[in-house]
Order: sequence, then C-alpha cells, then structure tokens
Amino acid sequence: MLTVPEGRVTNSLLYEGKAKQIYTTDQPGVLLAVFKDDATAFNAQKRGTIQRKGQVNATISAHLFRKLTAAGIPNHFLDQPEPHALHLSQLRMIPLEVVVRNVVAGSLCTRTDLPRGQVLARPLVEYFYKNDRLGDPLLNNEHIALLGLVTMDELALIRTSALQVNEILSNFYQACGIRLIDFKLEYGWGDQGLTLGDELSPDNCRLWDMRDDRVLDKDRFRHDLGGVDESYQEVLARVLKL
Ligand code: UDP
Repeated sequence: MLTVPEGRVTNSLLYEGKAKQIYTTDQPGVLLAVFKDDATAFNAQKRGTIQRKGQVNATISAHLFRKLTAAGIPNHFLDQPEPHALHLSQLRMIPLEVVVRNVVAGSLCTRTDLPRGQVLARPLVEYFYKNDRLGDPLLNNEHIALLGLVTMDELALIRTSALQVNEILSNFYQACGIRLIDFKLEYGWGDQGLTLGDELSPDNCRLWDMRDDRVLDKDRFRHDLGGVDESYQEVLARVLKL
C-alpha cells in the first residue's frame, strides 16, 4: 500500500506512470513523486513487484541527484520528505529518452549484432521517442528536427550534459565496485534552462558487479534471473557508503 506524505501536499494526482505517481503540492512549481514497488518491462507486457523498490529507487535517485548538483548539473531534485517520495521542481518535459552506453547490452545487441559486454571505444548517445503507442522508437537528429522536439543547438546541449552525467556516474559507481554499462535520462525545461528530470535508479541503468559482471539491475526482473529484491538492496547499500 502506498502512502502519500502529508505536508506541502495537496494530493492532487497529476500523472501516474508505470513506476511513479506525480502529485501537485501547495507550492507552485513543486511536485511530489511517489515511487511504487510495481515493476514493468517490455512495454508493460511483463508486470510484477520488487520488494521495497519505491524506497530504494527514491533513495538512490536522491543520492545521485545530490552528487550531480554538487558537480553543477542542473536537475529537478529538491528533497526527500519520505523514504519512497521526492519533492521535484516541475519541468516542461522533452519527449526523448536519452540513452548513454559504455558497454554493449540490451537493444544495442539486437539492433547491431555487436556482442554483449563489448566495451565501446567512446560512450554512445542514442535518442528514443518517448511514445508508448509507437514502442519508443530510435530517432536520429533529422527525425528529432522533423518532429520539432528540440532544436539542433538544444540537442547538442542535451548530448553534452548526458556525457557529463555519464562521466560523473561512471566514476561514482566505479568507486562502489560497480560498472555503469548504460542508462536512460530524461530532460525538461525549467527555471535554470535545460534540466535533468526523471530518476536515476537500477530501473533505468544497467549495473554490473565489477568483480564478476553479476547483473544488479532491472535485467534481473526482465529476464527472470532471480534475486531481484536483493540486488536492488545491494546497489542501495553500496551507493550509500559513498
Ligand atoms: N531504459 C529505460 N527505459 C526504457 C528503455 C530503456 O530506462 O523504456 C534503460 C535501460 O534500463 C537501459 C538503457 O535504458 O539501462 C538502454 O536500454 P536498451 O535500449 O538496451 O533497451 P532494453 O534492452 O532495456 O529494452
């Protein structure tokens, strides 16, 4: 059962996604994101629950957003009023999923036949159209211009920011004994211009144990590898040490 924290909350549900509910608060421009334990994969064809995922993802996200703030990367995180909830600044979201990859995995294997686990010579940035009905297709720069999602100058800003985030998070996870294989970011427009939104958690990153490449992320759920709850807890424990 999800409980919505009291306080600045007016409890008006603005949006419900697969992993989060977003509420308005009595402060204009401040939203409350309540993280759910529900898990979905393959465009919601697979559904389940990961024990304490809401708390784990909210806490890991808060920790990483604080690191990014300290490194000068504008992001929407404000504070964590409850273990499973974050206050966030409201953004005008850009309907792009920005994926950064350091190592071949997931859809890059199936699209290119490159072998899973191959280290990329340099990070690869990809853009997917955030559109469930279309199944989030891969877009190139020309598609993005055609659809008018952002200008090419704005796309260059997004790419630069995503690569900076990759540098910061890769170094951080390395210190936790974890390889950051790939991850997905979402951006929006706020008072500070281009601003990182969404969450930073094992739901939208691939994280492999540095010792033996053991999968510690949502792929355990996607591919029924077992030990899903434990892996999320393990990432949380390692992240909170630094
Ligand atoms: N990802 C995500 N949401 C999506 C699709 C992908 O958070 O809707 C993340 C995923 O967890 C991985 C990265 O983006 O860390 C790259 O995912 P990929 O394109 O390989 O797709 P997948 O194999 O996850 O379908």
